[in-house]
Amino acid sequence: RRGWRGTFMSDVTDFSDLGLREELLAVLADLGYEAPTPIQQESIPQMLTGSDLLGQAATGTGKTAAFALPLLNRLPQQDRGKLPTALVLVPTRELCIQVSSAIHRYGRAFDARTLPIYGGQPIGRQISTLKRGTDIVIGTPGRVLDHLNRRTLDLGSVATVVLDEADEMLDMGFAEDLDS
Ligand code: AMP
Repeated sequence: RRGWRGTFMSDVTDFSDLGLREELLAVLADLGYEAPTPIQQESIPQMLTGSDLLGQAATGTGKTAAFALPLLNRLPQQDRGKLPTALVLVPTRELCIQVSSAIHRYGRAFDARTLPIYGGQPIGRQISTLKRGTDIVIGTPGRVLDHLNRRTLDLGSVATVVLDEADEMLDMGFAEDLDS
């Protein structure tokens, strides 16, 4: 069987071996994803146990799904869509939109509510959307901090935090914001 980017994958795991819920497997099949990429194989089972991990892989190797799928799998099944239970920090507005739409796409498995918040977008609109509730916030550090200071974002229920392109965030001078 030939799989990810044409590599021979006879000994590669299937998505169904990684411990993901049926609803997510159905979405992946729908999207035509045949097998997990190497970073997905390594990170998904680990993240599903709830342990911390640091992942490193080149662009275009499926990093987004590597954290998005376990994050979605860990969403509470009931009584959600109010306070976010996951926070994804990204360095740029472009990545914010991209990651948010990817999570939204996989998250239709559970009707997960995702909300991108980044600078340059009217804060008033973000505040009213936050009030309506969400499951996953994807944001740039500056704008997330702004909402925390205004007390318009409550991270009290967050169980999972992802720093996407953490090296890039540090290079861009977000170290202090991340600490805060
Ligand atoms: P990323 O590295 O997260 O930007 O992903 C690169 C592209 O690969 C995106 O268009 C994903 O939709 C796609 N992708 C991610 N994982 C898989 C997979 N297991 N099989 C096929 N395509 C994938």
